[in-house]
Amino acid sequence: MAIQSIRLFGDPVLRTPAAPVVDFDKELRKLVKDLTDTMMDAPGAGLAAPQIGVGLRVFTYYVDEQLGHLINPDLDLSSDLDEEGEEGCLSFPGLSFPTPRAIRAVAKGFDLHGEPVTLEGTDLMARCFQHETDHLDGILFIDRMDPKQRKLAMKAVREAEWSGLAAPVIKVSPHVTGGRAI
Ligand SMILES: [Zn+2]
Repeated sequence: MAIQSIRLFGDPVLRTPAAPVVDFDKELRKLVKDLTDTMMDAPGAGLAAPQIGVGLRVFTYYVDEQLGHLINPDLDLSSDLDEEGEEGCLSFPGLSFPTPRAIRAVAKGFDLHGEPVTLEGTDLMARCFQHETDHLDGILFIDRMDPKQRKLAMKAVREAEWSGLAAPVIKVSPHVTGGRAI
């Protein structure tokens, strides 16, 4: 079973900084596969390991039909911001809000073989790198909003049907995703 349950806002794991990956081993390959399968099933543009309850610095992304992963990311951000772009999060199902982010990001890290990689992104890709790297530091997109927007967002969160369901919900997927065995 590669598709994991996605932790919802309120779960303490989303507020816990993740540890750097040290062993680039079979377990790591399984984690990247689980993240990829869970993200594609959701579907989502990105998923970080803490969102499936794993405290390691790993995320996957699927933006502009580019699928990938990054381990132990380190970001270099442009100073120009996109103040108005809408952003969502799989840990806040069904909600999206304007969230300020740098327009360009250079993300350095490693692939699952331990090889260094440098990724460059603009707009949605840059937004994704920032959002997912934040997850690894226990930071959520609501933290990046201006106070007025955050207040509106928290009201929507309280009114969401999943609010208070922070305990992991076991999701049994009855289907095969894209031909991959699960
Ligand atoms: Zn998120």
